[in-house]
Amino acid sequence: MFDVIVIGGGVVGGLILRELTKYHLNVCLLEKASDVSMGASKANSGIVHAGFDATPNSNKAKFNVLGNEMMEKVTGELGVKFRRNGSLVVAFSAEEIETLKELKARGEQNGVSGLEIISQERLREMEKNISDEALGALYAPTGGIVCPYELTIAAIGNAMDNGAKLETEFEVVKIVKNEECFVLSSSKGKTIEGKIVINAAGLQSGKIAALAGDSGIEIKGRKGEYILLDRESGDFVSHTLFFTPTKLGKGILVTQTEDGNILLGPTAEELENAGTDTSAQGLAFVIEKARKMCKNPPLFNTITSFAGVRAYSSKGDFIIEESKTVKGLIHCAGIESPGLTAAPAIAKFVVETLVGGSLRLIKNENFNGARTPDYFFKNLSTEEKNAIIARDPSYGKIVCRCEQITEGEILRAIRANPPARDIDGVKRRTRSGMGRCQGGFCQPYIAELIAKERGVSLEQVTKCGDGSELIMGVTK
Ligand SMILES: Cc1cc2nc3c(=O)[nH]c(=O)nc-3n(C[C@H](O)[C@H](O)[C@H](O)COP(=O)(O)OP(=O)(O)OC[C@H]3O[C@@H](n4cnc5c(N)ncnc54)[C@H](O)[C@@H]3O)c2cc1C
Repeated sequence: MFDVIVIGGGVVGGLILRELTKYHLNVCLLEKASDVSMGASKANSGIVHAGFDATPNSNKAKFNVLGNEMMEKVTGELGVKFRRNGSLVVAFSAEEIETLKELKARGEQNGVSGLEIISQERLREMEKNISDEALGALYAPTGGIVCPYELTIAAIGNAMDNGAKLETEFEVVKIVKNEECFVLSSSKGKTIEGKIVINAAGLQSGKIAALAGDSGIEIKGRKGEYILLDRESGDFVSHTLFFTPTKLGKGILVTQTEDGNILLGPTAEELENAGTDTSAQGLAFVIEKARKMCKNPPLFNTITSFAGVRAYSSKGDFIIEESKTVKGLIHCAGIESPGLTAAPAIAKFVVETLVGGSLRLIKNENFNGARTPDYFFKNLSTEEKNAIIARDPSYGKIVCRCEQITEGEILRAIRANPPARDIDGVKRRTRSGMGRCQGGFCQPYIAELIAKERGVSLEQVTKCGDGSELIMGVTK
């Protein structure tokens, strides 16, 4: 029996799992998909928000500011790239300048440091491509950027290196609570037992609560569509540019990503059924807004579009508490933005206060929080590269030409915790297939490597789990 079972392999569940391994606890994470980070933690803006947006004293405000402060340490330990590029909320009218003052006051109340309202002139010095119509901005130097799935994969991998168990393709469909523990059953008929269950199932967290007998959590989905530009346009902006929020919404953002691309989006569309397809209408909105924010956004460098779904609660705030009706069930529900930023602080609170309220927490002196990044080779010096190739010749073979990723890095991603089992899993860990050709050149070879390493046939290799097989059969 496990001491704690976490349902949901997103950034919240992942960082909770890692936090749990800092103590002598037997812990497990259940994820319904074939890989971790397949929900909101895969497709979002990757912004580490400063914390001026949320209502003072809300969970969102508290965990945002704390999570922002913790981000350097967590990403540093896990070898995940993180940069404080600073954010700018841009005003286009005198009325919006007044809103910036309110945002600044709210941010200061939330404990955000360094907030400053800057002039049109300074804004133009900071962002050479800003629209001529922009009048000023709220500058937040503590705003940052991080790769959300890199953080999630690294957190879960590090937790596994410290003894946690991961079960993918385990969709929790039944929860029974007896006198001693919870018994969780999967859609494939497997069962698993645990004393405490943490509900970090994102969009499905209302459903998980209901399965356990708690009908008090209502979660809805709101879709956001994005356009991603090639790294050739990487210096088009350097800060994260937000519109000033109005009654009509927050508009979109224009930002660099941690990997040096430019990201435009997201839209905000209420959903009945959570789909992640993009639409002509949604992308047209993103383009229109990007053109309002900046002069001549280099849309000719578009390499892909995608969408993510925010899981929001009818209460308008993060729900982070033990269930009021089911003892031992801890909810992390309604974690919409700024959930990525807040995740390290949520994880610490959940483990120290909520799990610690039921189980005795004894420090694990053997916990090792360090992790080597999944891809790293191209940034090394020639001497360092030569030394690695001498030890392992697979690092001497470039597989993804666009991103310069070696066979050694791909094999490492397939072998390391949590192992990449399909093409997209390798892509998220190594960036292979994320460049200009979007995998056209390297995918067949990566499929062969996956088949060989996993001991399966090429026909069994998928793009992203069951039903996405790449090869239907042999013709010759
Ligand atoms: C468009 C968009 C933009 C955003 N931008 C930002 C931003 O810039 N900055 C920021 O701080 N935050 C941002 N967010 C919010 C952030 O992405 C989320 O708060 C965060 O990813 C939530 O993580 P999670 O672990 O709670 O959920 P998820 O990542 O959704 O993980 C939940 C997991 O549970 C699994 N699951 C569901 N049901 C079951 C089941 N029955 N059994 C087993 N597993 C199950 C799912 O497969 C999924 O992997 C954004 C979100 C979106 C959608």
